[in-house]
Amino acid sequence: MKITFHGAARTVTGSQHLIEANGRQILLDCGLYQGKRSEAYDRNHKLPFDPSKIDIMILSHAHIDHSGNIPNLVKSGFKGDIYATFATQELCGAMLLDSAHIQENDIEFVNKKRARAGEPPFKPLYTQADAVEALKYFHAIAYDRQVEIMPGVTLAFYDAGHMLGSAIVVLNIEDRETGRDVRLVFSGDLGQPGLPILRDPTPIDRADVLLMESTYGDKKHDDFVDSKRGLAQVIIDTYKRDGKVIIPSFAVGRTQEIVYALHQLAESAKIPRLPIFVDSPLAVNVTAIFSHHPEAYDEETRQFISGHKGMTDPFGFEGLHYTRSVEESKQINFLKGAAVIISASGMAESGRIQHHLANNIEDARNTVLIVGYQGENTLGRKIQEKEEKVKIFGEWYQLRADVQVLTGFSAHADRPNLLKWAGALKKKPVRTFLVHGEDKPLAALAEGLRKEIGFENVDIPDLHQSFGL
Ligand SMILES: [Zn+2]
Repeated sequence: MKITFHGAARTVTGSQHLIEANGRQILLDCGLYQGKRSEAYDRNHKLPFDPSKIDIMILSHAHIDHSGNIPNLVKSGFKGDIYATFATQELCGAMLLDSAHIQENDIEFVNKKRARAGEPPFKPLYTQADAVEALKYFHAIAYDRQVEIMPGVTLAFYDAGHMLGSAIVVLNIEDRETGRDVRLVFSGDLGQPGLPILRDPTPIDRADVLLMESTYGDKKHDDFVDSKRGLAQVIIDTYKRDGKVIIPSFAVGRTQEIVYALHQLAESAKIPRLPIFVDSPLAVNVTAIFSHHPEAYDEETRQFISGHKGMTDPFGFEGLHYTRSVEESKQINFLKGAAVIISASGMAESGRIQHHLANNIEDARNTVLIVGYQGENTLGRKIQEKEEKVKIFGEWYQLRADVQVLTGFSAHADRPNLLKWAGALKKKPVRTFLVHGEDKPLAALAEGLRKEIGFENVDIPDLHQSFGL
């Protein structure tokens, strides 16, 4: 049995891990790599394995850095089943189409430039038709159910508390080579316990092999309640300057969390009355999908909803506007006075948020509010680090707007909670592989796992590195 790490190795994007056992191949996640444009284009185009040889794909959750290369996988010859939870399957319906739309737009922009330079055009990574085709391969299963996905291999999904539908993947593999049963646990992305809306990550009792995310392996988050207070303060301060608060946010997960917090703040009059825009066609679709899955809400959210007679949507309130069309989105540019604008993508690498940043970051009255993890080399990271000038759509912009960071809305567990989750394994893994993190948090989490909970054999794989199990 063998595992190879083809993505999210010493970085946070492009999650792809290949398991080979009993002459079969199982791919965990097939995410898009995000980063420098030319590098991303090459890496995403050329899959580092033969897709036609993959028997089964298992998807931990719908975020694009885990799911976004599935249409390319299918286009390149994959013919197996893609296992995911019901909510993940439904979310992928909206998210992969949105991603295809972004791919098509991006390449159009690049090709205009190439045409001017007399260079031949690039093809999009995949089209909307490819995304639709890929959806035919999905096979949904519920949480907490053991399903035999091939002879000698069972799969179960458990709540990961990271976004709607997110799962911890548990595989039981009868390894015929060694005659042993191997229990392989892939954390997927783990949520921070105690956050509103979703249930907390499920503690898993045992693992032989553990693949674990490490995004915040070196940091402790602010308390959610403090961050909610911080959100109110940022809005009040910016409102006083008659400025706009611009929030780059993943359309799925964080956007709903921020909207839910704003709902509570507006209702208790802790923020002034001002227009709030969720400018993302995807967020509109996703909000509807959330309302199809009340079974995924936690107790607090259920109580909040039941306290509002006739209200079934925690993501809608007076003053909140969802914009779908490009026309509506452009109207926001002409808006005078204070407002809050939430838009995707979360690391400001693509999507409408780039227009809002281009329009607003040169004005010192405005605030860019960072609420999620910003990967290396992304526009979001450059803004977070307050670089004087940033490039958007190939033009330089002076960063004069205020920049604030709130960590309590994070969809990822922080160091203490990562250690707590790993510490709940009564049978310690024989081998642990840390993925989905940058070098510092990876090293810090590895040390924590060894010293604080006594894990042996903790590895930090390099890209394309293989390990025999
Ligand atoms: Zn995620």
